[in-house]
Amino acid sequence: MKALVAGAGIGGLAAGVALRKTGHEVEIFERSNELREIGAGLMIWPNGVRALEALGVGIKALKVEGVSIRSWRGARLMELPIAEISKRHGSDVVFVHRADLQAALADSFGRDGLRLGADIRRFQDDAAQVAITLRDGTLATGDLLVGADGLRSAVRRQLLGDGDPTFLGSTIWRGTLGAEGIALRPGHGVNWFGNGSEFLAFFLADERIYWAGVTKEPKGEKAGPGGHKQDLLERFEHWVEPVPSLIAATDGRAILRNDMYDRPPVRQWSAGRVTLLGDAAHPMSPNAGQGACQALEDAVALGDSLRRAPDLAGAFELYERRRLRRANRVVAMSRQGSRSVQIENPLLAGIRDGLGRLLPRWVLVRMLDATLAAPRD
Ligand SMILES: Cc1cc2nc3c(=O)[nH]c(=O)nc-3n(C[C@H](O)[C@H](O)[C@H](O)COP(=O)(O)OP(=O)(O)OC[C@H]3O[C@@H](n4cnc5c(N)ncnc54)[C@H](O)[C@@H]3O)c2cc1C
Repeated sequence: MKALVAGAGIGGLAAGVALRKTGHEVEIFERSNELREIGAGLMIWPNGVRALEALGVGIKALKVEGVSIRSWRGARLMELPIAEISKRHGSDVVFVHRADLQAALADSFGRDGLRLGADIRRFQDDAAQVAITLRDGTLATGDLLVGADGLRSAVRRQLLGDGDPTFLGSTIWRGTLGAEGIALRPGHGVNWFGNGSEFLAFFLADERIYWAGVTKEPKGEKAGPGGHKQDLLERFEHWVEPVPSLIAATDGRAILRNDMYDRPPVRQWSAGRVTLLGDAAHPMSPNAGQGACQALEDAVALGDSLRRAPDLAGAFELYERRRLRRANRVVAMSRQGSRSVQIENPLLAGIRDGLGRLLPRWVLVRMLDATLAAPRD
């Protein structure tokens, strides 16, 4: 069988690797002319690490030893039970450079079957095959189509027709810089909570630090006259060190800014010869650090379902049974996380932080278990 995959992000490349492993001929169509290497970090939880192992993809990563949650003034609120979680779920939690993960997946898939500058406009699904039309009018046909084309998926638009994603009311800025002189320990991350905002920073594998700042902003707001760096310095200037220093030491031209979106969960990702995967299926706010992990899980589950089921309809049904409820639950948890960060009222934010401090460790472990549970057969 021949599989067409829309998008060569983490989800599409992982799907390409998984489907090849099941013996499919795979062609991936990526809109960009090159695989973009975004300068940012990702936390990959044990469910994502296990999925990468199942795909046979090795990554350059740094084991996470600890993550502290603190207030914007520096008060310690809680420690994430990383060692316990790693033990319970049989794998490390790691920090990776997004570009390294993307490159590892791309190397594993290879150049053969990867079509760059291929912008999918629409598909046509008839009983015998599925055809895609590219922007330049080129046609390609296959036995199935996987829409892994991200937040504003063209495949989803045609398949589900459920409109634009939902703006969550916040914006996230991201940057990386050399770790020299920054008071952060290798293998450790810190997440500071403010009133309607948060900031996090963690070490990457190559002596670099990745940070991200989230604030409530109107949708589509452009950078002020001083650029992203100045905007950020103003918003985080009174925060505990090293927050202002991290921003100040970052090359302003390399700071990324994105509004945050998700979509209300749906009950179906597939119809006929077409299915969805990754952000195209279940975009989520970054709060749970799970979007890429869930995309990797999708890829493994889709490959496995295609191997096990007698036909395509059965495979998509099995894929959805394994993935849909679980991914939807993580979307809901991420959204809850995003709402809790958005609490602006200092009194309510203080109550949130106080509850965090009092949260028994076992409750936190159970909460993380719910996100990380191994996919069920
Ligand atoms: C700030 C931030 C921090 C995050 N942190 C984490 C984290 O710590 N851990 C974690 O697990 N996840 C994290 N995530 C989520 C994670 O980045 C995403 O969930 C994941 O990258 C989704 O991968 P994807 O392949 O589904 O989509 P994308 O990465 O969006 O890839 C889609 C691809 O499809 C291509 N495309 C789009 N339209 C077309 C078309 N019409 N034709 C052809 N190609 C097309 C795009 O160019 C793109 O290459 C974070 C996200 C953000 C924004």
